[in-house]
Amino acid sequence: MKNNMDLPFAEPYKIKMVEPLRKSTKNERLKWIKNARYNLFNLKSEQVFIDLLTDSGTGAMSDKQWSALMLGDESYAGASSYEKLKNAVKEITGFEYFLPTHQGRAAENVLFSALIKEGDIIPGNTHFDTTKGHIEFRKALAVDCTIDEAFDTTVYHPFKGNIDLDKLGKVLKENQKGKIPFIIVTLTCNSAGGQPVSLNNLKNINELAKKYEVPVIYDSARLAENAFFIKSREEKYKEKSIREIIREMFLNADGMTMSCKKDAIVNMGGFIGLRNRELYRKATTYNIMFEGFITYGGLSGRDMEALAQGLYEGTEYDYLESRINQVHYLGKLLKDQGIPVQEPFGGHAIFVDAKRFLPHIPKEEFPAQTLATELYIDGGVRCVEISTLLTDRDPVTRKNRYPELDLVRLAIPRRVYTNNHIDYVAASLARVYKRRNTYRKGLKIVWEAPIMRHFTIELEPVQ
Ligand SMILES: *Cc1c(COP(=O)(O)O)cnc(C)c1O
Repeated sequence: MKNNMDLPFAEPYKIKMVEPLRKSTKNERLKWIKNARYNLFNLKSEQVFIDLLTDSGTGAMSDKQWSALMLGDESYAGASSYEKLKNAVKEITGFEYFLPTHQGRAAENVLFSALIKEGDIIPGNTHFDTTKGHIEFRKALAVDCTIDEAFDTTVYHPFKGNIDLDKLGKVLKENQKGKIPFIIVTLTCNSAGGQPVSLNNLKNINELAKKYEVPVIYDSARLAENAFFIKSREEKYKEKSIREIIREMFLNADGMTMSCKKDAIVNMGGFIGLRNRELYRKATTYNIMFEGFITYGGLSGRDMEALAQGLYEGTEYDYLESRINQVHYLGKLLKDQGIPVQEPFGGHAIFVDAKRFLPHIPKEEFPAQTLATELYIDGGVRCVEISTLLTDRDPVTRKNRYPELDLVRLAIPRRVYTNNHIDYVAASLARVYKRRNTYRKGLKIVWEAPIMRHFTIELEPVQ
C-alpha cells in the first residue's frame, strides 16, 4: 500500500495504556482445552495468550472515546447522547430514521420482527450466523446467492462478497413478491471470509430489487472495511474518500442493521438505520419491547457517546489502512510458509483453509475445529471454526450441513496487537502445519444445542 518517501509503514496512533498477557505451558493448555470440551468459547481469557477468536467488541477505544464516556447523558428519554449518535449515523450512512440497539443481533431481532413471517425467503450473500439464526427462528429460509468464486479459496476475485445477479434474479422470479420481505447484503461478507462487495454490484442488486419491488437491507458490521476495498480495488472510486464511498453504498439500500462492535470500535452497541417512516414506526414497537425506549435501545448514554465517536474514527482512511495492513501482514506470513489461506485476504481476518491443511481428516470429524484446537495447544492462540459446527444442522432434515468452505478464522482485534504478536501467531501456526500429518483423527460431538450450537457445543477427540 502507498506510503510516502519509501519509509516503512507505521500505525497512525500510539499506545497509552497496556494490559498484561499471561503465557502458559503446553501441559496447562492440554488440560484446559479438555476441560473446555474442545470448544474454544469455553476457555477463560487468562488461559489464552493471543486472542483471535473474534474482532467483535474486542477493539481498543481511543482517548477521545474514553473521554466521551464522561459526557454520557443518562436521561431515560431524549438524551443528548442519543442526538449525537443519531447525527453521526445520519452523517455517515445518510439514513434519516435510526434506532439504537445493544448489539447487531438485537438490531436483527427488532427489524426482522417487523419484516419476516413464516415461510418467507430472504436471499443474500452468505448470511452471518446470527442473521440466519433470526431468519430460521421465524421459520423462514435464507438463500445464499453469493458468486461461485467465493467458494474456491484458490481463485482470485477482488469482490468475493458479491451477489450473483443470475442466482438472485432466479429467486426473485420464482417466488411471489409477498414471500420475499427483503434482500440482505452483508458488508463485508463475514462468513465468506471477510470478503467485500463492489459498489457496482450494490447498484445492480438494488436495480434488480427495485424491479421486483423488494427492499434491500445491508448487514453493515464492516461497512468501513468494505469501503476501503472499494477505494483500493474499484478503479472508479479510487479518488473518493471513505465517507463518500460509504454514502454512495447506502444510496443503494432501504435500510441497515449494524453491529457496532466491529467497525465502530466499541465494546458494545448496534443500531438500525431506515429510510421509510412506516417501517421505522413498526420497528419502534419491537425496539421498545426487546431493547428499551427508542432514545437508548439497550445502551447507556455513555455507550452512545463512545459509539458516535467510534463511527467517525472507524471511517478514517489512515486508521483503515493500518488495520487492513496488519491483517494482510498475517496473511502474507502464512502464505509464505505454504499454509493454505483464503485469497484475496479479507478485511478483518485471515481464513485458513482446513480442507487443504488437514485433507486426511474427514469432514465428519470437523477438520477446522481440530485445527483450531491444535493451534491453541501449540501456542495459546485462540481462533474460531467457520464451518460445519457454525453452520448448524438443516432445520428440516436435522443432518449436519457441510459448507463448501471449511475455514479457521484468525480475526484481528482493532488497534490491540502489535506485529510481534502477529509474528508469534504465524510461527505457531507454521509449527502446526509442519506436524499436520501427525494429526490422524478429528473430533466428535458429545452435546449440542438445537440452534446456534457452536457457542456451547461439547466435543471430544475421536479414538
Ligand atoms: C457480528 C455480526 C453480526 C451480529 O452482531 P453482534 O453485535 O455480535 O450481535 C451480524 N452480522 C455480521 C455480518 C456480523 O459480523
